[in-house]
Amino acid sequence: MGNLHLETIESLQAKLREGACSSVEVVQDLLGAMEAVDGQVGAYLSVDAETALAEAAEADRRRADGKAGALNGVPVAIKDVLNVKGQPCTCGSKILEGFVSPYDATVVKRLREAGAVLLGRVNMDEFAMGSSTENSAFRTTRNPWDLSRVPGGSSGGSAAAVAAREAIASLGSDTGGSVRQPAAFCGCVGLKPSYGRVSRYGLTAYASSLDQVGPVTRTVSDAAALLQVLAGADPMDSTSVDAPVPDYREEIKLGMEGLTLGLPAEYFVEGTDPEVDAAVRAAVAQCEALGATVREVSLPHTPYAIAAYYIIATAEASANLARFDGVRYGRRVEGQDPIEMYGRTRAEGFGPEVKRRIVLGTYVLSSGYYDAYYLRAQKVRTLIRDDFAAAFGDCHALIAPVSPTVAYGVGEKTGDPLQMYLGDIFTVTANLAGLCGVALPCGFTAGGLPIGMQVLGPAFAEEQILRVAHAYEEATDWHTRRPALVEETVSSRQEG
Ligand code: GLN
Repeated sequence: MGNLHLETIESLQAKLREGACSSVEVVQDLLGAMEAVDGQVGAYLSVDAETALAEAAEADRRRADGKAGALNGVPVAIKDVLNVKGQPCTCGSKILEGFVSPYDATVVKRLREAGAVLLGRVNMDEFAMGSSTENSAFRTTRNPWDLSRVPGGSSGGSAAAVAAREAIASLGSDTGGSVRQPAAFCGCVGLKPSYGRVSRYGLTAYASSLDQVGPVTRTVSDAAALLQVLAGADPMDSTSVDAPVPDYREEIKLGMEGLTLGLPAEYFVEGTDPEVDAAVRAAVAQCEALGATVREVSLPHTPYAIAAYYIIATAEASANLARFDGVRYGRRVEGQDPIEMYGRTRAEGFGPEVKRRIVLGTYVLSSGYYDAYYLRAQKVRTLIRDDFAAAFGDCHALIAPVSPTVAYGVGEKTGDPLQMYLGDIFTVTANLAGLCGVALPCGFTAGGLPIGMQVLGPAFAEEQILRVAHAYEEATDWHTRRPALVEETVSSRQEG
């Protein structure tokens, strides 16, 4: 075993280029790491080792033929919400048990074109609704830093797999924080691209006006490398935008000098875990020391964000999830007539959180309540967007915590959905406003849990936030730490 599972995309690519290892060896090491830790972490829902090894062998052949793509031979784990032709796609739901995707999502197609190897499918909250991965119908993924705690969600499998070194990188989706928050809980880098930057074709829709696919990685340059491949217009998604795609890997190297960073007053408030607050403030001081100018800004409509988000997201979800009726996809529970069949299928197929949201979303859209809830939420959304536009008039990027807490205990919040929703306060705004944001490690609690910060930027300014994040990451070593679980595996595997 060469411990290749510990590499980043960048370090791995260097090794692959030099011929120091093959892609097949990388996949073998990752399969070994899965075997060692996934029984405890539970990040993967399904792994098709044979196909992954065959794709890796193919990648090795391409390299030998001088035809290596931008991500040639790099294995990437895929959130179970993205369609990969011929593979299951459950979205963490019993209603899609047995469903096999007939086509590739555009992001998957692009990964393939770049030569990446699709490693396996990782766990998530059912239909991406949740913040802890406890809403998966199949299992609760554990946080590799402390197995009694949640990995965050909804892309909890994506982040846990990367943190536990059972994946080099993964894809997640972020509707209200689902890439950034689990990345923060697991000590990874998680990028939510601007709305329209990355195609949503083949991403099972939760809330179509908020959803974006984004990478979870161990370093900022790895996130840039993945975005490079994922970004760009797609004729299959009319909301993808035909804006130029910069050379992210180069642009992020420009350093902190000359950048103005805003600190939103509303994101540094009481209620946030003091260790999180202190770590993010220390990170801001570090950015200043690296040459950034820091100023306070205000996003005055922040207190209304959670309410607006949970109205808009559930409204869209109630419409999007109407398609799961037992007729076309996945599971069907027979009834005496179609109406009974629909009812039974949905009653047995959907979990309690998904049902709660369908009910809530249907309610806020119903006649008589539409104006009071849905329409008002849309107006709040505009105000939040305007808040950010004003803030970005003065600064290149904003720095904030990702979540008011670090990873909490499994079961701690499941009894109180509202408490769970409130934890999304610092992430949902970027989705409501269509902005980009990246979460990255900025410290650890005294108890050894990762703390994340986020850098938010204007729409289509990914290179700007990645530049800030990269400069900070270069000056710190938080991202190099590994969970004890991983250390144990490394040594025991070396002995073996
Ligand atoms: N936690 C938020 C929710 O439950 C965000 C989820 C997401 O981004 N997919 O809706």
